[in-house]
Amino acid sequence: MSLGKDYAGQECSMAGALEVVGERWTLLVVRDALYGVRRYNDFLAHLGIPRAVLASRLQALTAEGILEKRRYQESPPRDEYVITERGIALWPVLRSLGRWKREQYGETQLRFFRHADCGTELGSYGECPACGYVVPVADVLMDPGPGLDPDPADPVGRALLKPRRLLQPIESDPV
Ligand SMILES: [Zn+2]
Repeated sequence: MSLGKDYAGQECSMAGALEVVGERWTLLVVRDALYGVRRYNDFLAHLGIPRAVLASRLQALTAEGILEKRRYQESPPRDEYVITERGIALWPVLRSLGRWKREQYGETQLRFFRHADCGTELGSYGECPACGYVVPVADVLMDPGPGLDPDPADPVGRALLKPRRLLQPIESDPV
């Protein structure tokens, strides 16, 4: 018997959210979309997952209105996946999850997320402790921390070695 995908009988919004984003790889696709990844081959290279799994996650996230499929080239036809407001609203969740792991397990920092206007590192929920508000995602600057691999094998990983704002599109060369 395979494990079901839903949490039937759970009257709980968290369970409902996990039905949408709780499958393996789904939140990492959202993370990459927040980092500015839009193209299938870039998701594939950066996540290193089987094509069928990626295709299924992209389809599910599009159906949920978390990603929007947009045609960027007609011949041959090519689509990209752009994160929507509903997807962007997951940023504080991902920020909080990442920080929870690092703090609870005493890990070296992989990336810094800062308020671009003042350079202060964001708090656990995406807020700027200096300015006192939740920073709009487009104003979040990320730059590499000491724990990050300085020589990643994939083009997205290399693009993410430079300081850049969230949502700023990453466009690798067509393959
Ligand atoms: Zn600030």
